[in-house]
Amino acid sequence: MNDTTPIAEIVAEIGARFTRLSDEIWSDPHLRWQEHASVEKQIEVAAEFGFQVQRNVAGIPTAFWAEKGEAGPLIAVLGEFDALAGMSQQAGALEATPNPDTANTNGHGCGHNLLGSGSLLAAVAAARYLELNGLPGRVRYYGCPAEEAAAGKTFMVKGGAFDGIDAAVSWHPGSVMSTRQVLSLAYTQVYFRFTGVAAHAGSAPHLGRSALDAVELLNVGANFLREHMPDSARVHYAITDAGGTSPNVVQANASVYYIVRAVDVAQMSTLYDRVVKIAQGAALMTETTLEVDFDGACAELLPNHVLEQALHANVENIGGVPFDDVDQKTAAPYTDAYPAAEVVGIRRLLGVEGDEPLFSGVAPLGSPYARYQMTGSTDVGDVSWIAPTVQISGGTHAVGTPAHSWQMVAQGTLPAAHKGMLHAAEAMAATTVDIATDAQLLAAATAEFDAVVARTPYDCPIPDGIVPPPLRVGNEAFIG
Ligand SMILES: [Zn+2]
Repeated sequence: MNDTTPIAEIVAEIGARFTRLSDEIWSDPHLRWQEHASVEKQIEVAAEFGFQVQRNVAGIPTAFWAEKGEAGPLIAVLGEFDALAGMSQQAGALEATPNPDTANTNGHGCGHNLLGSGSLLAAVAAARYLELNGLPGRVRYYGCPAEEAAAGKTFMVKGGAFDGIDAAVSWHPGSVMSTRQVLSLAYTQVYFRFTGVAAHAGSAPHLGRSALDAVELLNVGANFLREHMPDSARVHYAITDAGGTSPNVVQANASVYYIVRAVDVAQMSTLYDRVVKIAQGAALMTETTLEVDFDGACAELLPNHVLEQALHANVENIGGVPFDDVDQKTAAPYTDAYPAAEVVGIRRLLGVEGDEPLFSGVAPLGSPYARYQMTGSTDVGDVSWIAPTVQISGGTHAVGTPAHSWQMVAQGTLPAAHKGMLHAAEAMAATTVDIATDAQLLAAATAEFDAVVARTPYDCPIPDGIVPPPLRVGNEAFIG
């Protein structure tokens, strides 16, 4: 938009309802697939602003959408609200201190309390602008569960939830207000469950077949594989069942949970197949049986440079987040807690000038050919293969704050986080309006998207027949 003032006015008028929503979600954090309370809070706000709500999207109990507007293009605005285990943290604390007010050990270590609330605000502000100006365009907020190592959106894509959208807009809280030009890794997550034979480990070890041995041999094999995989690929695991606490019993059952990541679905699938072969080899060596339990997967992000440019024009119009001296003073201890060299490196990487704890500028748009390869993953990746997708990075946290840390949780309800969220929402709302109202922009973004997908069609990393985890027999706890 050439003039983003009307959007700023709408956000200023209604923003407080959404900062309150983000605080409410922060205070009651829930893990992947179990975000029922957060979904109800979001639906309540969406309904307050006249959005039509569709629950149980793609059959997933904590997936929903909320839509407003008439005719014109259908723009998706993506939100998340899941928390992380073991990340409970007191608001504003300067050292790791579990929050006595939360009933569980969860915490919003990735800022998803801000993410969902900011995206919902963007959807509401864009829809209100279109309505006030009598413009066509449908805005659909997607409440997406289970982003954290669970691929909620990938299951939603597979279930057809995003069919018919013309474009998608999203964001992620972070340290710098910028157009998000990163690449991400595709991944698969899988449980390898081994079953052997129990026996007395002292008197009859030859009669036992150890499932724990199989897990260990799989891990040794996978660690040898590291030397022979592409540089940016990642393999990590957690032993979820070591077979019990009795060394004098040959462990009959043991399980390990793997995540396999690589630059795209094709490379990741090749690597995944090799890990499965190692697991099969471990079963063969130990004479145990192997069950491969596929948990989820997501694709790499497909950037859209046309939309990045459109978003960035709005980011520049809106300018940096207006942090004040109190915000800077409050943020300083968080930045100071990191090694100085690390912070300098982050500032250089992000194109951040100056040494303020909170970056109050706007990072420049980078070259589309020099996008940063993030070695994490996001299920926004799968949506980006359905329609042109663009994301903003919000300036909500002190420079240097790592994701999935107690520091991220501690800063999640500070005034700086709220300001950054409102600012990101403004940029998303303005871009949503642009896509809805500028037919040339949408045509150019679609042409760029179509050209890529014609060469390399979307390869859904979740095999047919794999249903979302909450719908699997034995997982009733997810349904809540
Ligand atoms: Zn996140």
